[in-house]
Amino acid sequence: MLPSYKILFLGSGTSAGVPMVACDCPVCHSSDPHDRSTRSSIYISVGGLKILVDTSPDFREQALRHDIRRVDHIFITHAHVDHLFGLDDIRRINTVQNTDIPLHAAPETLTDIRRIFDYVFRDPIPGTYRPQLTLLEMRGPILIDAPAGGQVEVAPVDVVHGHTKTLGYVFTYAGRRFGYVPDCHEMPPATKAALSSIDLLVIDTLKRTPHPTHLTLEAALSFIDELKPRRALLTHIGHSLSHAELEAELAAHGPVKVAPAYDGLEVEP
Ligand SMILES: [Zn+2]
Ligand SMILES: [Zn+2]
Ligand SMILES: [Zn+2]
Repeated sequence: MLPSYKILFLGSGTSAGVPMVACDCPVCHSSDPHDRSTRSSIYISVGGLKILVDTSPDFREQALRHDIRRVDHIFITHAHVDHLFGLDDIRRINTVQNTDIPLHAAPETLTDIRRIFDYVFRDPIPGTYRPQLTLLEMRGPILIDAPAGGQVEVAPVDVVHGHTKTLGYVFTYAGRRFGYVPDCHEMPPATKAALSSIDLLVIDTLKRTPHPTHLTLEAALSFIDELKPRRALLTHIGHSLSHAELEAELAAHGPVKVAPAYDGLEVEP
């Protein structure tokens, strides 16, 4: 039997979420629950570890929806609001598990976190509570002991996403490799090499028309065809893409199997 390795999409939407506030478009008024997307984040259960990637502004709602009670490690892709601003709600997890939580991110991202959440790192006022985090610089692949045996390797990969330092992550356990790249416009050659021929690739797909910091559907599919994962899922999806239409359109895509992710989707790499 394969050791347990599951990825839960807490959120699969773009920075504004879907539906967007004050929008009259058909997707924002869709009755399909797959067209309701909170801000992108995933929760990985691997080898007995619980790993959260990004703390979106919707983290509280996502944690309630999925009854999340444990987080062993947090990995942050970058310091944009839609990937970070739920960090304060981690304090409830600290209280429940009574431990600090290691938070891994690029050094530039940690600098932003220390600035944005400066109160977290000041001397505590007795009787108040706040996130308890151990900030760790992500400068290369790390190994984490898995309670179920073996180790989980987490490797950062650089992506181009406007002016903000941004990482994707490759998680490897029991020979299975999963790459998560929610915000991306371009990839350097080393990143393409690290994401090549993996078991599951989750990649940014904002919309069909060009955007200065995100991938179009066409560009995401072109990366998928080039990188040849066993399977691919699209995330960080905006309100111009209807889930049902996109899923039907992608059913014809080959040879790599591609589908849009949605909130609540659980997959194994
Ligand atoms: Zn984003
Ligand atoms: Zn809309
Ligand atoms: Zn971003």
